[in-house]
Amino acid sequence: MNIIYIEDQAREYQLTQEICEIFPNAQKVYIKHYKNLFDKQIPYKHKKSLLLAKQTWNVLLPVPESYWYWSTSYFLRTALNCLFDCEYCYLKWAFRTDIPAIFVNTDEMQTRVRQEIEENWHDDIWLYPSNWTDLLASEFMTHFHRDWIPFFETLQNIQVESRTKAISIDPLISMNAPKKTEMAYSLNPQEIIDMYESWTPSLQKRIKAINILLKSWWKVWLRIMPLIPIWWWLNIYESFFNQLIDAIDIEDCSSIFFWWFLLTNSDFKKMKKKNPASDLRPMLKSNEWWLLRVDSNERKEMYSLITQYFPKAKISFDEL
Ligand code: SF4
Repeated sequence: MNIIYIEDQAREYQLTQEICEIFPNAQKVYIKHYKNLFDKQIPYKHKKSLLLAKQTWNVLLPVPESYWYWSTSYFLRTALNCLFDCEYCYLKWAFRTDIPAIFVNTDEMQTRVRQEIEENWHDDIWLYPSNWTDLLASEFMTHFHRDWIPFFETLQNIQVESRTKAISIDPLISMNAPKKTEMAYSLNPQEIIDMYESWTPSLQKRIKAINILLKSWWKVWLRIMPLIPIWWWLNIYESFFNQLIDAIDIEDCSSIFFWWFLLTNSDFKKMKKKNPASDLRPMLKSNEWWLLRVDSNERKEMYSLITQYFPKAKISFDEL
């Protein structure tokens, strides 16, 4: 890490001190407000910097209905941007910069979450903290799982899904398997990982991490996403499905879920602007309502392959 930008109001928090100790040689630059930097259009690749800030606005955001989640759900915002670099990731065009930002006022955020959940809501609630980042990848800095999982255990009526591609599971297996938090592993064939998931661990390493977590009684979800129609995708995915079935006891996993590669028209335009050379966009040949999707005949072929191998799996937009 070359530079740590620290918001003035974030200086005194314990997490700020902990993160600065991890990078003793990084230059510290104090700034008035993190948005003065985060919302600036600065050169894209900027991963050698870090922003530490105080979360003063909504820590919970309702998941839009169009996201097709099943119950009352909220995104939990404790960090923005990701240490990994997946070409299809909407973070690439969601923000003006790719500098990772970490909100350090954990206790205050937890107080607000507790108040909102206990005072206002009575339904079963799902919390998704990984919408803007992979929190296990940055656990060594954010300590998200260390600091938040025990907190989630104290709340009624919630379940939490931490979605990840990371394999740094030591902090997880050193704690008792929680009841309220599940680790959801994003998986794809190694061919897709090589092409589109830069800096992420290999499929083999993710499978190994999943098996260790399962043996340690963690709840693990499998997320096969996004399904990307590269050349020979049926063959590649079939061999990948066999690899999963051989390596993981699928019945031990809480669920398996498939998600098509798709983009909204607006995200499609933003992706084109940010990465004009990407070969992903031409794969979306079908324009249906507000979504660009894989051609419906190709989807039908994949759908039939998935249901043959994983009859109990959930598949996004499975009306095809
Ligand atoms: S790991 Fe997830 S959040 Fe991170 S770049 Fe890849 S898709 Fe985006």
